[in-house]
Amino acid sequence: MTTTVFLSRPQRDVWQRIGDWLARHQREIRCVQWSVVIVYVVLLVVPVFLPMPGNAAHMWDDFTRFAQFAFWGIWWPMVLLATALVGRVWCGLLCPEGAISEFSSRYGRGGGIPRWVKWNGWPTVAFAGTTLYGQMVSVHQYPKPALLVLGGSTLAAAVVGYLYGKEKRVWCRYLCPVGGVFGLLAKLAPLHFRVDAEIWRETLRAGLKPGAINCAPLVPLKTMRGASDCHMCGRCSGFRGAIRLARRSPSHEIVHVAGGHPKPWETVLIVFGLMGLAVGAFHWSASLWFNAAKQWVAEWLVERGALWPLEISPPWWVLTNYPARNDVLTLLDGTILVLYVLVTALAIGLAITLLLSLATLCLGRFDPARFHHLAQTLIPLAAAGVFLGLSALSVSQLRMDGIDLPWVGETRMAMLFLASGWSGVLCWRVTGLYCKPRGRRVMALASIGLALTIANAGWFLLFWGW
Ligand code: SF4
Repeated sequence: MTTTVFLSRPQRDVWQRIGDWLARHQREIRCVQWSVVIVYVVLLVVPVFLPMPGNAAHMWDDFTRFAQFAFWGIWWPMVLLATALVGRVWCGLLCPEGAISEFSSRYGRGGGIPRWVKWNGWPTVAFAGTTLYGQMVSVHQYPKPALLVLGGSTLAAAVVGYLYGKEKRVWCRYLCPVGGVFGLLAKLAPLHFRVDAEIWRETLRAGLKPGAINCAPLVPLKTMRGASDCHMCGRCSGFRGAIRLARRSPSHEIVHVAGGHPKPWETVLIVFGLMGLAVGAFHWSASLWFNAAKQWVAEWLVERGALWPLEISPPWWVLTNYPARNDVLTLLDGTILVLYVLVTALAIGLAITLLLSLATLCLGRFDPARFHHLAQTLIPLAAAGVFLGLSALSVSQLRMDGIDLPWVGETRMAMLFLASGWSGVLCWRVTGLYCKPRGRRVMALASIGLALTIANAGWFLLFWGW
C-alpha cells in the first residue's frame, strides 16, 4: 500500500496543494486518460473510413477536416506550448499512448528492460525517423498515414508496455519519438516537483518507511533535480514530506542542472534535430531550392533517357500518392525531399556545432561538458521554431476555411525575437559559471549569437522569404 507523508508545515502554498490533490485523485486522472484514449481513437480511425474531403469541405462540416485540424492544428502545437509552460503534464495526465502503455504493462509479462531499449539515442533517432517519414507520406494531410504513424506508435507503446516493466511507462521513458523533445521543453517550465534532500535525509534518520511510489516513467525520486523526465503525474507529491510541486525560474534547470549531467544525444536533438531537420521538414514544400534541385536532376535524367524515376510513384505508405487530389510524389520527388531535409539538417547542424565549439573555446580549454551545456542554452529558440513550424499548419488550415489571422506575422517575429533573447541570456549566465573574464564571455556570446542567427534565418526564409 502507498503511504504518502504530507508536510507538517501548516501553510502549504497553492502549488503544493495542487500537487497533493493530483496525488489523491489518481482514479479520476485515469478516467480522464481513458476519455482521451476514446477521443484519440475516434479522431484517428474514423476518417480512414470516410470519403476524402472535397475542396469545398470545412472543418465544421467534414469530420476528416475536423480531425486533421484537431490533431495537427491544435493538439500538437498546444502540447508543445503546454509542456514549456507547465512541464510534461500532457504526458502524465492526458497522453493516450502513455495510458495504454502503462495499462498493458500492468497486465503484461513484466520482463526486465533490455539494454538496447535503454540506449540514449532512441528519442533522437525516433524523432528524426518519424519526422522524415511523416513528410514522405504527408502525415499532416491524409488520414491513412496519420493512422499508420500515430497508430503504429501507439501499438508499439502497448507492446513495449506488455513486454517490459510492471505498471511502468518504459516506452515513454526510453523510446517515445517525441519524448526527447518534451524532455527538452520541460526544462523551460516554471513548475516542477521539487525534492528537498534535507527533509528526505531527516525522514531516513527518523526511520520513516513510507510505501513505495509507482513512478511510471521510472524517475529516480531521491535524486530528481529537474523536470525533464518527470511526467507531472503528481503521485509522489508529499512523499516523505520532501517532494512538492513548486515554482522555479524558467531558466533554472538549464543554467544550474543541465550542466551537471552532459547528454550528448540531447545536443544532437537540439542542434541537428530541432534546429536542422525540423527546419528542412517544414521548408521543402515551399522551398525554391527544392524546386530548382528537382528541376535540375529531372533535366539531367531526361538527357540520359532515364525516365523511370520521374514515372514511378510508390504506394501511399512509401510516398504521398493521391491522384484524385492531384498530389503524387514520384521516386525523384521523394529522393530529393529526403536529401533536402537531410542536407538542411547537416548544414545547419554542422554550422551550429562549429559555433558552439568556438564558444566553448572562448571560455578556455575545450571541454565537452561545457560544449553540451552551451548547447542547452539554444533550447528556447529551438522550441520556439518547432512551435512556429507546427502552428504554421494551424494557420494554413484556418486559412483554407476562410479564417485569416492578421497578426500572425508579428506574433511569429515577436516569438523568435524573445526566444533568441532568452537563449542569449541563458548563454551569458552559463558562460559565467565557467569563466570570469568578461571579454571571453562576450566572445562566447557572440559565437552563440551567430548560431542563433543561422537558426533564425531558416525560419525567416520560410515565413517571409518564400
Ligand atoms: S517524479 Fe514520477 S511520480 Fe513524481 S510526479 Fe514525476 S512522474 Fe509522477
